Amino acid sequence: MSLSLDLTAAGARDALRPAPASEKPTLIGLTRAELGEALVAAGIVPEKQARMRVQQLWHWLYVRGVSDFAHMFNISKDLRAALAGHFSIARPEIVEEQISNDGTRKWLFRFPPRGAGRPVEIETVYIPEEGRGTLCISSQVGCTLTCSFCHTGTQKLVRNLTAEEILAQLLSARDRLGDFPDRDTPAGAIVPSEGRKVSNIVMMGMGEPLYNFEAVKKALLIASDGDGLALSKRRITLSTSGVVPEIYRTGEEIGVMLAISLHATNDDLRDLLVPINKKFPLKELMKACRDYPGLSNARRITFEYVMLKDVNDSLDDAKALVQLLKGIPAKINLIPFNPWPGSNYQCSDWEQIEKFADYINAAGYASPIRTPRGRDILAACGQLKSESERLRKSERLALEAMMIAGHGEA
Ligand code: SAH
Ligand code: SF4
Repeated sequence: MSLSLDLTAAGARDALRPAPASEKPTLIGLTRAELGEALVAAGIVPEKQARMRVQQLWHWLYVRGVSDFAHMFNISKDLRAALAGHFSIARPEIVEEQISNDGTRKWLFRFPPRGAGRPVEIETVYIPEEGRGTLCISSQVGCTLTCSFCHTGTQKLVRNLTAEEILAQLLSARDRLGDFPDRDTPAGAIVPSEGRKVSNIVMMGMGEPLYNFEAVKKALLIASDGDGLALSKRRITLSTSGVVPEIYRTGEEIGVMLAISLHATNDDLRDLLVPINKKFPLKELMKACRDYPGLSNARRITFEYVMLKDVNDSLDDAKALVQLLKGIPAKINLIPFNPWPGSNYQCSDWEQIEKFADYINAAGYASPIRTPRGRDILAACGQLKSESERLRKSERLALEAMMIAGHGEA
């Protein structure tokens, strides 16, 4: 059962009130150089002051997390007004916030149209655990790829998210969790007992991040900037279905941790499960992994492997997996398949998942089984879809029935 926020409570109503649609250009998601240029081009900051103003703004935007120029107290009133006249730093509208009974939160954000387009909606998920809190961020609305077990893959690509929209997911989540200085955590929220509430991010939401490389790169470089949001690159993981040409660039130009959605150990099966394999087959994918910049035993690649009953879950498959990864510093993440209405697969039996995990453990790989989180609010891996394609009531009921019947239940 999911807990939807009580929107009648005054605080919640204020917090979720839509930001006014703004036609003004945003300052979020710009590099420092772009930010300086924007201020000078608008004629509100003289060139020789640009560097200092950029530093001030960077601090307010990314350390203090303000979303209103009026709160930038060390900037003169006149300049604040000029900034507000030219630019926006508003957060996106939160259409819905759901809280699972395990503390997982899912937000549905609405972003304004870009150019002639329509507003779009995307989902972002927060997963609190002992000692860390992970935010699962989307990179696209829908996906061009059609992995046969993935719900997002049934939704056509609407558009890429901008760097601003990718960062907005992190900024808004930190707002809602009280994860900026001087902000209180909402009463009753489940968050790590120490440290930052959002301590890790994974690019594992909707979309294929490497088909939106430039925006993802910009956003992640800002998220890891030491004078701003300051997330360590070791706590940022980018997951790809295997866009080989951009894998090297990910290591070289962004420097974050890499996860590969592997799911099969031979081309015939992977062609069916992850069709991009037809373009970039396993041999090329494995070479790209071996060549990943910075790869070492301390910086391993995570291989994600979804457990599909009678499809890829035999001990022969486990053996082939160990063989395939030989020589690559790797972790293997076994993901119990999360069902969705219309999916043609079942999750492997729990006993089989454990046998599979034991085999690869014995071969020397850490192989955690990813505990499904937030299934009751459809927040688990591969269950995300934007609200424009939200489940009809009948589909929700079908899904609940599947859960009760135990399909895919861990
Ligand atoms: N497009 C990227 C990142 C988003 S998908 C990628 O494919 O890697 C994030 C992870 O969830 C991927 O490993 C994906 O294969 C997995 N996934 C998708 N649908 C799933 C489902 N129904 N059950 C379990 N995992 C799923
Ligand atoms: Fe797209 Fe990743 Fe889903 Fe494949 S698994 S359809 S690449 S989101």
